[in-house]
Amino acid sequence: MSLIDDMNWLAPQWHSLSAYVNSGRVPQALLMVGREGVGKSALAETFSKRLLCRSPQEFACSECVSCRLFEAKTHPDFLRIEPEEPGKAIPVEAIRGLKANLALKPQYSGRRVVLISPAHHMNVSSANSLLKTLEEPDEHTSLLLLTDSPESLPATILSRCQRMDIPVPERDLALAWLAKQGLAENGPVLLALARGTPIRALSLANDGMIEKREEFFTAWVGLTQRGEPATVAEKWSKFTCETLVEWMISWTMDLIRLKSAPQNRALDNPDLAERLLHPAKTLNLRCLFDYLDRLNAGRKMLSGQINRQLLLEEMLILWLRSQCRVKT
Ligand SMILES: [Zn+2]
Repeated sequence: MSLIDDMNWLAPQWHSLSAYVNSGRVPQALLMVGREGVGKSALAETFSKRLLCRSPQEFACSECVSCRLFEAKTHPDFLRIEPEEPGKAIPVEAIRGLKANLALKPQYSGRRVVLISPAHHMNVSSANSLLKTLEEPDEHTSLLLLTDSPESLPATILSRCQRMDIPVPERDLALAWLAKQGLAENGPVLLALARGTPIRALSLANDGMIEKREEFFTAWVGLTQRGEPATVAEKWSKFTCETLVEWMISWTMDLIRLKSAPQNRALDNPDLAERLLHPAKTLNLRCLFDYLDRLNAGRKMLSGQINRQLLLEEMLILWLRSQCRVKT
């Protein structure tokens, strides 16, 4: 199955890329911009393979020596530059290594593709080093820069790249794709958790995120006793704190929505609507907004060096207190 048969929301971008190739005007540097999980990597890899293929049609042939090397992830003319660990910076050595490579001729198809992802993880020295490469165009080389945060890239880099935006697919397309992956039932919730991006939604499902969320929600909404926050925080201390805080933010926002309009069904967590109705009735709006502020402040603190378990415990204590204030 071709990329656009599978991820049909990428068809407009694929057609633009094909048009570049057909007109012989592949940009030297292409910046692909889109949210995590929207299909940037799939698009960039399919395009790279197509560029390197020795007998391409609309897509790569998948049979030539170049395609076979690409599939085996050993193509010498396809260079992938990524952080050594997710979340880390792309060090300047990686970009310098790239330059040494660019000095040589491509070995197979007269062309070379460099994929840099996520491009905004280049630190200042890396970006400066890449800029020099961009200033000396090389007709054999195509650079593909992937990012979900173009505003974090220096303007000097942005101005030298052709930009291609990959929007979040329409909800129906995304849900249909998830249904094909066997996720018809939980599709809407997964898609909401993944901010509309289907591939991220799939990876959340594979990580058992629906079950985890259910478990944490039950603990959160059921908090009644003083000692409980510490116990719950300890139990969840190994789980990604960012995700737990995001969940609590989205539940609190849904409570505020339900409070303002009990029939509201445009919720982030439609599957939890019934169980959110009771706290929505008993809590007051002011407490909910205060709690939301504290959660947002907590989320910001997570980027620094803090004790996550304690932060989580505090967020749970505040939630318990916002309920007690109503009762007394
Ligand atoms: Zn081929």
